[in-house]
Amino acid sequence: MIYSVIVDISTSQLDRVFDYKSDENFAVGQRVKVNFNGLNTEGFIIAQKESSDYPIHKIKPILGALDGFVALSQQMLDLANYMKEKYHLRYVDVLRLFVPSEMRGGKVKALVVDFAKLTDSHENILPQIKETFIQQRQIVQYLASGEAKCSYLNKQFGASALKTLKKKGFVEIFSQEVFRNVDGQLVGKSTHHVLTDQQQKVVDAILKDKQGRFLLWGVTGSGKTEVYMNVIQRLVSTGKNCIMLVPEISLTPNMLRLFRDRFGDTVAILHSGLSSGQRFDEWIRLKTGKAKIAIGARSAVFAPLDNLGAIIIDEEHDGSYFSDSNPRYSTIDVATKRAELNDCLVVLGSATPSLTTFYKAQKGEYKLLQLPSRVNKLPLPKVDIVDMRMETLQGNNMVISNKLKDKLCETIKNGNQAILFLNRRGYSSFLMCTKCGYVARCKDCDVTLTVHKESNTLKCHYCNKTYKKLTHCPHCGQQSFKQGKLGTQQLCDVLHNLFPDVKILRMDSDTTTTKESYTKILQDFADCKAQILVGTQMVAKGHDFPNVTLVGIIDADIGLYSQNYLANERCFQLLTQVAGRSGRNTVQGSVVLQTYTPQHYCLTLASRQDYLAFYRKEIGLRDVSKFPPYSTIVRVLYIGENEQDCIDQVTDHSAKLEKIKAENPDAFYFMDKMRCQIKRAEGKFRFQILIKLDNDYVGIVMEKIFAVSDDVARKSVTVFVEIDPQDVT
Ligand code: ADP
Ligand code: ZN
Repeated sequence: MIYSVIVDISTSQLDRVFDYKSDENFAVGQRVKVNFNGLNTEGFIIAQKESSDYPIHKIKPILGALDGFVALSQQMLDLANYMKEKYHLRYVDVLRLFVPSEMRGGKVKALVVDFAKLTDSHENILPQIKETFIQQRQIVQYLASGEAKCSYLNKQFGASALKTLKKKGFVEIFSQEVFRNVDGQLVGKSTHHVLTDQQQKVVDAILKDKQGRFLLWGVTGSGKTEVYMNVIQRLVSTGKNCIMLVPEISLTPNMLRLFRDRFGDTVAILHSGLSSGQRFDEWIRLKTGKAKIAIGARSAVFAPLDNLGAIIIDEEHDGSYFSDSNPRYSTIDVATKRAELNDCLVVLGSATPSLTTFYKAQKGEYKLLQLPSRVNKLPLPKVDIVDMRMETLQGNNMVISNKLKDKLCETIKNGNQAILFLNRRGYSSFLMCTKCGYVARCKDCDVTLTVHKESNTLKCHYCNKTYKKLTHCPHCGQQSFKQGKLGTQQLCDVLHNLFPDVKILRMDSDTTTTKESYTKILQDFADCKAQILVGTQMVAKGHDFPNVTLVGIIDADIGLYSQNYLANERCFQLLTQVAGRSGRNTVQGSVVLQTYTPQHYCLTLASRQDYLAFYRKEIGLRDVSKFPPYSTIVRVLYIGENEQDCIDQVTDHSAKLEKIKAENPDAFYFMDKMRCQIKRAEGKFRFQILIKLDNDYVGIVMEKIFAVSDDVARKSVTVFVEIDPQDVT
């Protein structure tokens, strides 16, 4: 039999199918060992056939199977084909998404542990052991109730006792696979709620249509999670499997706790914060049917489950659902395709759906389901907009307005908790010489360095390189510096001065470098070990802290006025989400939103949590300016160490694309070549060609654009094509 194999080596030259032969039977989707160019390597069988176009004696044999199971189902292979065509990806890069990286190259194997068991009944054995051999007798008594891990017995009763028992033939040692546990997550009790009428209606509507596409639009605190869990419970009870996607790891512990409490071991978690052994085991538990529910971030959409009942995507508007490095893809798009291949449900949920999703719901592509009020019937929090220009005029130069200060005092006095949101980490955003205006920048990136006071360093937030803090200006020698806008570190300092006795926690990517640190901060705050939590957008999402009655938004203007067409949408979503953290339990929450542009519609509508009004205004603007969903944005990105090579390559491609544009004049709304906003990153120059296409022509011209992008004459330049990128900096 001839097998078509994708060799697990990623280069553009090897992006094709190779034929191998074998007399043994292999399954399509199996991973196998093969020889390629004299090297033993791994490959995926994607098809089998009777004959090959190559002379049979030239075809090399398959050297053997790599796993004791078939890694990829036919549906996953179909999904791979779809992604490969749609996003113009290499086959192998897609297939690699489908198996845990630790499985490839045999880096991690199943964990095999030694167990001990008695060779006879303990009644028969015990009389044969002298009363003075206490530890041996204890082991026999312990094993009377069943087998046990040798490591445990050795620790409890001493290693020599077990050894002796084995020598005497009373105990037999055997090996067995065990799963590494994913525990140490937040602990707590999840109460099983009786659904509200609203929730019940939504659950019924979802379950009525086995292939439905739904958008669940429910305000913050409306009980969407309970809806997801009920849908999953019903599907699992009928023998189906489900995938539950959440945007970020910081959110996962909480969701995981809820799911673990409700579904126990049938849940497997997939995210990058696990150890490689855990990740491997969780994947195997799904693959072998021991777990039926996969929960995790973006990549869990590839969970190895057959017989899917639903793919649920919580906080569907979140930017992390777009993969913006190779291989680039949109999770919602992939989930929709997978659901189509599996005949299963798709449920997208959000309080602030992405404009594109809501637009599709208006057009009938998704069925719109609503949860318009909070479970506890409490009104949404009351938002005060504070004009920071007035604050300055009135002589308050602090970063915290008088209003916010008063509310903080009150919250603390009442024994409640507050979240302060500032989407800028570090101490201050830049360091500038007061004499000559020199600004510290990263050597490798076209980015200003952020001051980090705790470590007394300057950091590049693009490549994470750290520099010593400057004492003198390297340009003019002057010793005085002006610092840029404040970040979370400095905000904590300010708060400590204002409230010396109050315990404050900080959550940003500097304080959450390990997987335990997220959980610890969240747990400490949930346990009320601190009254104020300061954080970046990490605090905005999903968390449910019942004692939080105040949310302060320190600088609501961050994110507005950027060149990205998504800036307003992102800002509105973030502010609505942050505000939604307040008053989730029994007391109506309040929110203080500080801004220098209080009249901006993004802020006024977010303060009223008026999604519909925002949608109408923003979608109107998109229509007029022909931005998505009214068009498709394509970015061809060029990255290379040699600037001239980049320029030559961009110029060459640009000419070719202009020709395509001339031949298809109706397809292009816009096209231009330029340096990226971040001109250099990690030592490499960056250029781009931005294209705005009429949606009706995407099918026709995309292939031509891909063909141009493949034709790269300057080998030092790497070219990527992105469809509807979330970020074009
Ligand atoms: P959302 O995800 O929509 O923001 P959550 O699912 O976090 O909302 O629910 C908000 C709060 O309401 C949670 O504390 C949850 O335990 C509680 N809750 C959800 N459903 C019910 C219900 N049917 N009865 C009582 N409380 C509920
Ligand atoms: Zn850098």
